[in-house]
Amino acid sequence: MSNNSLRTVYVNGDYLPENEAHVSVFDRGFLFADGVYEVTTVLDGRLVDFGNHMARLHRSLGELDMTLATDDNELLAIHRELVQRNGVDQGLVYLQVTRGAADRDFVYPATGTPATLVLFTQHKPLLDAPAARDGLRVVSLPDLRWNRRDIKTVQLLYPSMAKMEAKRRGADDAWLIEGGQVTEGSSSNAWLLDHEDTLVTRALSHSILPGITRSAVMAFAEEQGMRVEERGFTIDEAKAARAAFVTSATSFVTPVVEIDGQPIGDGRPLPAITRLRERFIEESRRRAI
Ligand code: PLP
Repeated sequence: MSNNSLRTVYVNGDYLPENEAHVSVFDRGFLFADGVYEVTTVLDGRLVDFGNHMARLHRSLGELDMTLATDDNELLAIHRELVQRNGVDQGLVYLQVTRGAADRDFVYPATGTPATLVLFTQHKPLLDAPAARDGLRVVSLPDLRWNRRDIKTVQLLYPSMAKMEAKRRGADDAWLIEGGQVTEGSSSNAWLLDHEDTLVTRALSHSILPGITRSAVMAFAEEQGMRVEERGFTIDEAKAARAAFVTSATSFVTPVVEIDGQPIGDGRPLPAITRLRERFIEESRRRAI
């Protein structure tokens, strides 16, 4: 928190010091996890893939019949204002929308109840992350989340439990398994590079989050002449792959060097994956707004 002390945050139209920002105890985000979020990466003080994050936000809101009165131009202005006020060079902007405050009831509140909109920033050294150099160790765990993982909701208890279990087992993170196949990481999409040099990641469905980085990496890899295949894979296939990695907004492309204690390849990040990460970051910096 040291770098982040007394940030300015945004709550429902106001820019406030973080210790003066409040949300109602009746907020449905707090009582029902009735809310959605986005995390947009900041590099060089600019926003990475902003348009696609907002497009996914609107999709998440639509799937839950939630409305937000703030349009994308205003959302962009708020993101930029927070980045500027908090002097963020590298890090993220977190945005959360909930269905607002109302008497506790499973029935949604009356139409017209204003959504709660909160945004804050976090400084984070994303480019020099140790995991990029050393790779991640992951363990496989059952995917016990609900079945609409394509909606980016704030109900993150199981991913948090899975990450804690991974840490307890001496690993960095979890890959989640359902029906014998890997769905995704606790907060990332899961990939492998097979022995024919094809990048493989699970196809979109209700089972996984449509990662903004997943789709950007997929397009970028194809532009670079790499083959990409969207299909499910087992944890054993990942263990036997040439390389494994994860993608997410704040981790870009990060190698996985061990799964369930078994080294992938020679147990070090494969140079091809490190190159993909570096070129992807270069491209993201160039396109950031
Ligand atoms: N899958 C899950 C479950 C996530 O929580 C995240 C990011 O938080 C991702 C995938 C990666 O998505 P993105 O690339 O949009 O950050």
